[in-house]
Amino acid sequence: MKGLMMDVPLNIKTIMSHAAMVAADTKLISRRADGSISRLTYSDAFARTARLANALDHLELSSEARVGTLAWNDHRHFELHYAIPCTGRICHTVNPKLFPEQIKFIINDAQDEALFIDPQFIPMIEAMQDQLPSVKHWIALCSANELPQSSLPDLQAYENLLGCEQDSYDWPLLDENRASNLCYTSGTTGDPKGVLGSHRSIVLQCMSQNMASQLGLTSEDVVMPLVPMFHVNAWCMPYSAPMAGAALVLPGPHVSDAAAITDLINQEKVTFSLAVPTLWSGINQFLNASGTSIPSLERGVIGGAAGALQLYQDMDRHGVTLENGWGMTELSPIGSYNRYLPSHDQLPKEDQAEQRLKSGRPLFGIQMRIVDEDGNSLPHDGETTGVLEIRGPWACSAYYGKPREHDWFNTGDVATIDPSGYMRITDRVKDVIKSGGEWISSIEIENVVMSHPGVREAVVIGVAHQHWSERPLLIVVPDDNYPTLTSDQLLSYLEGKVPKWWIPNACEFVDTLPHTATGKVSKKMLRENFNHYQWA
Ligand code: ADP
Repeated sequence: MKGLMMDVPLNIKTIMSHAAMVAADTKLISRRADGSISRLTYSDAFARTARLANALDHLELSSEARVGTLAWNDHRHFELHYAIPCTGRICHTVNPKLFPEQIKFIINDAQDEALFIDPQFIPMIEAMQDQLPSVKHWIALCSANELPQSSLPDLQAYENLLGCEQDSYDWPLLDENRASNLCYTSGTTGDPKGVLGSHRSIVLQCMSQNMASQLGLTSEDVVMPLVPMFHVNAWCMPYSAPMAGAALVLPGPHVSDAAAITDLINQEKVTFSLAVPTLWSGINQFLNASGTSIPSLERGVIGGAAGALQLYQDMDRHGVTLENGWGMTELSPIGSYNRYLPSHDQLPKEDQAEQRLKSGRPLFGIQMRIVDEDGNSLPHDGETTGVLEIRGPWACSAYYGKPREHDWFNTGDVATIDPSGYMRITDRVKDVIKSGGEWISSIEIENVVMSHPGVREAVVIGVAHQHWSERPLLIVVPDDNYPTLTSDQLLSYLEGKVPKWWIPNACEFVDTLPHTATGKVSKKMLRENFNHYQWA
C-alpha cells in the first residue's frame, strides 16, 4: 500500500519560493572588487533571478544545457545558482584558480553552452576561446559601462542581458532527480572529474545541514561564506541560508584580505562564517596583531582540511567557536559536522580539546564506515584506523560521463570512528606515511607542532628512507617573532606528545608553503619539492 501524501518534488525552486515568502526583506549583501557594497533583499535578488531565467531562454540554450560560471561570491553568482537549475539547466561552477589547461578540459568535458565570466578572468578565457567549441555565448558579470574591450565574440554585459527582461517567470515543476549543479574535483591525481548534483541532493543536504545539532542556521543568522561558490557551491550556503531565512553576506574577490573581511563582519554584523584553516589563520593573525574585535561573529565552520587546536583556542579568545566540518566535492560537500555538546564539558580538559578536533558525526542521511584493505568493516572504537567509506542521497554514485561506481564511496581518507559516532580524519590515503609497515598520522603531528608559538604553518610529509621505507619530514614556516627557533627545539617539543617513533627525522624551515586552488596546503607539491631530500 502506498502512503497518501502529496508527491511534491524537492527542487531548488522550493527554496526560492520559501525564502521569497518568509525572508523577502532579509538582506543579501555583496562586496564588489572595488570595495563598494551592493545591497539587495532576497525579494530583489529573486526578481533579478526571474529576469535572468527569461534571458537564458532568449539565448536559446538547450533544455539541459550546462552553463558555466567563473565568478566570485557575489549576488550575480547567487542569481545564477537559482536561474540556471530552476529553468532545468545545469549550473556548472568552474574554479578559476585552476591551471588554464584544467579549465579548458573542464569546460570541454561539460560541453558548456554559455559562460558567465567575472571581468578579471576574461583575458584567460580569451586566450583559450578557440579551443572551447561548445561555448556559444559569453557574458561578462558586470554592468554595461564596465564591459571590457574583448576578443570574445558578442561579449555581453550581465546587466544588459537582464535589462530588457520581465521580473516574473513561469517556473517549471522539475523532477527532483534532475541534474542541477556540476562541479569538478581539483584533479590532484589525473584529470578533474565532474560531480553532478541533483535538485533532490541539494535540498536534502541543506535540510540536514540546517538541523540544530548540525550547522543549525536560523533566521537570526547573518552568514558569510568565505569558501568560494565555485568550489561546491560555498558548501551549499547560497541554498542553506535562504532556506533557513538567514541573511547572506558575499565577500567578493578579496577573501584573503583579513582586514577587509573583519571590516565586513563588523559592518554587516555577521554571526556565522565558513572557511578553510588557512583563511581562519589569516583572520586570527590579523586580530592578534591589530587588536580588532569581531563581537557579532559567534560561530564558524572550519573545514576542507584539518585545523590545528591552537587555532580553535585562539579563535575562542576572539569570541568565535570554530566547529569542524568534513566533506568533499563528491559529497557536494558536507558529510559530517562537529557540534560541541554540553555533555562534553564533563570530559577532562585534554579530552575536550581532542573532541573538538574530530570531524564530527554524520549529517542525517549519510552513512559512514571504516574498512581495512580487504574491505572488511572495522570497529567504531575511536582507536582503529581504516579507509572511510560513505553512502547517502548526496554522495556521488558515478562521475559525470563515467560508469557507475560502487554502492559505497571510498573517500580516500583514513579515519577513526568512536562509539558515539564521532569520526576523526587522521590522513588522506595518498598522504599517509608508512614507516616500517606502520601508519603515522601526519595530521596529529602537525597539530602538536602548530601549538608551538614559534610556528606559523607546519606540514609533515613522508620521504623515502632506506631502512624504514618512509620517514616523516617536518616542514615549518616560522613566526617572524621567533628568529632564533631551531629544528631541534621543534623536534624535542614533540617528545611525550606523540609516540616516539612518529617524531620526524628532520625539520626544514621554509618561507611559504604551496597552496592548492582551494586554499589548502598542497602536500603533493611539497612531496615533489622534497623528492630528492637526503636524510642527514
Ligand atoms: P580537493 O582537496 O582535492 O580539492 P575536496 O575539496 O573535495 O578536494 O577535498 C576533500 C578532502 O579534503 C577530503 O577527502 C579530506 O581529505 C579533506 N578534508 C575536508 N574536510 C576536512 C576536515 N574537516 N578535516 C580534515 N580533512 C578534511
